[in-house]
Amino acid sequence: MPAPADPPRHPALALPPRPKLRRGLWALPLLLSLVFVAGVLLWLRASEQADLEEQRLALVSDALSLETQASARIERETLLLKDVATRLDQRAAGAPALATLPEAQQGLHRFWISLTWLDAANRLVAQLPDGPDGARSGPGLSAHLSAPLASGGTLVARYSPGEMLRQTVPWWLARKYDVRLLDSFDAVIASTTEDRPLEGRQSWRISMAPALADGYLELTARDVVPRWYHGLPVAMVAGFVALIAAITGMLRRQMHGVSRAEAAWRTEAAWRQAMEDSLTVGLRARDLDGRLVYVNRTLADMVGYEPHELVGLLPPMPYWPADSHEEIMQRHLRNMAGQAPREGYEARWRHRDGRLFDVMVFEAPLVDARGVHIGWMGSILDMTERRRLEERERRQTETMAHHGRLTMLGEVASTLAHELNQPLTAIASYNAGVMNSMLKLPSPDPVVMRALKRLGEQAAHAGAIVQRIREFLTRREPRLEPCTLNVVIEGGVALLRRELQRQQVQVVLQLDAALPVIVADAVLIEQVVINLVRNAGDALAQRPGERRIVAGSSLSADGRFVRIDVRDNGPGLGGLGIEALCAPFFSTKAEGMGMGLAICRSIIEAHHGMFDATNAPGGGALFTLTLPVNLAASELSMEDGA
Ligand code: ADP
Repeated sequence: MPAPADPPRHPALALPPRPKLRRGLWALPLLLSLVFVAGVLLWLRASEQADLEEQRLALVSDALSLETQASARIERETLLLKDVATRLDQRAAGAPALATLPEAQQGLHRFWISLTWLDAANRLVAQLPDGPDGARSGPGLSAHLSAPLASGGTLVARYSPGEMLRQTVPWWLARKYDVRLLDSFDAVIASTTEDRPLEGRQSWRISMAPALADGYLELTARDVVPRWYHGLPVAMVAGFVALIAAITGMLRRQMHGVSRAEAAWRTEAAWRQAMEDSLTVGLRARDLDGRLVYVNRTLADMVGYEPHELVGLLPPMPYWPADSHEEIMQRHLRNMAGQAPREGYEARWRHRDGRLFDVMVFEAPLVDARGVHIGWMGSILDMTERRRLEERERRQTETMAHHGRLTMLGEVASTLAHELNQPLTAIASYNAGVMNSMLKLPSPDPVVMRALKRLGEQAAHAGAIVQRIREFLTRREPRLEPCTLNVVIEGGVALLRRELQRQQVQVVLQLDAALPVIVADAVLIEQVVINLVRNAGDALAQRPGERRIVAGSSLSADGRFVRIDVRDNGPGLGGLGIEALCAPFFSTKAEGMGMGLAICRSIIEAHHGMFDATNAPGGGALFTLTLPVNLAASELSMEDGA
């Protein structure tokens, strides 16, 4: 079965793999110690072998030398016996002759047990000492020497090999070895010790022939070469192994702890790396001399250099504009002295391609694990995009304000025209009345009549101008087209989003997704929504706590009308009705124009809709507008009803 493949790693997490060796590293000291211990044991064993060999060699050489000495001793005794035989030959035959021979007595003093004179027919002639042999023989076996007599017969000396050994073996050899004489059946003939030789000792056996036919000399070492596994060194080695095993156990635990810490560190490093790479803020760390010690990818991209090209650089930096080095250096020195403003400062940097751009820099002290201040960490925001957005927003607001002013101006002019229409008509009527009255007079003053006529003409002219202005400005028919009301509401609210955010007002949209497409002028309806939401925002400006506007859309039960509600949780309408609110120039705001709601109402009415304002059930104001789904049909129905 194929081994399951590792899940693909994110490049940010692809840190160098952990070396394999390190996993079993804790066992290395134990292994080395075991190798060392094995070496020591082998050395002990070899040393034991060497000692045994040395002892064996000494044993062999001592055995050889002892055998030589013992053989020489026996041979000398044989010569001495021959000498006795020669002397006996020279003397008169008879037993007394033997007893009087001093050499014979000396022999008996050494280790001869008895001296026997046999004639040619092997009959006893004489014997020293007199009496039975057993009296002097003592314990142990005996051996004999013989020397032929010229007179025919043999002189036989019986001796004690044990005594011979005692006299031949030097004391230091007797201390070192147990020396035994054995016959060919392993029976002990003589021994320097009463004890049986112990097991496990080295011994060497050597033949005594020809001095002692069928006799063997055996040396057994008294000292035992201690076995290599007995004794202090092995006990020490065992203690050493136990100690190393315990230390290895501790080392293993320690290394596991270190491994766990390292794994945690690696995870954290990978996370940090991923976070740093995903940041849109540039980061740079500098030491106390101002040398760059770290830059993240964002900062490197911002200035168009690779991180490794920047790290290690000292001021002036390559991204400083050439013409303001001095000023930036002053600022740099101020920052290094810890005087950088907490709220950040603006700077202008130069991209590698020569382009200048504005940045916002925030400096903070860089402190190491021991709490020592080691440099400065700066976060850098590229202001280009923000500036562009601000500029666009400013222009948009200006355009909106401009449009608003234009609309308002149109409405003002329209209202003025409406208001002036009546006085002008009244002037024209009064003028006509006065002229009629004057004509009834017998002699009307022609100058007055001309003036009145001119007055009437001017009043009519003024009325016509006003009428034309009014028609031109306000009687623009809505540009009707299919319009998705929810999109219109969303668009209107979106335009105000920043303004509302600034006012800390939350806008909730409760839009009915099943709303039909209606026929309306989307631009004008959007203006109405903007006006209502902006008014609600203004009403909430002074409110503490939550500020909320709910803009909703819904369909009437009969499906003929759609409805838009704009509700706020502000102070409410203070008892004012829709008429009062929509009255031209009615405003409670210091800088209000008082035309907004009037315009809203005229737009809604132009769409044959209805506009209303009430206090919301939970407090606050509720503005409602209703629009016919099918404007053409409603127009028809209204005309029918008219
Ligand atoms: P302006 O906004 O210039 O004052 P408007 O015609 O838009 O003119 O509004 C007229 C007045 O209606 C406002 O000054 C205010 O007193 C009142 N008004 C409008 N909307 C609200 C509202 N949501 N809550 C309370 N009062 C409101």
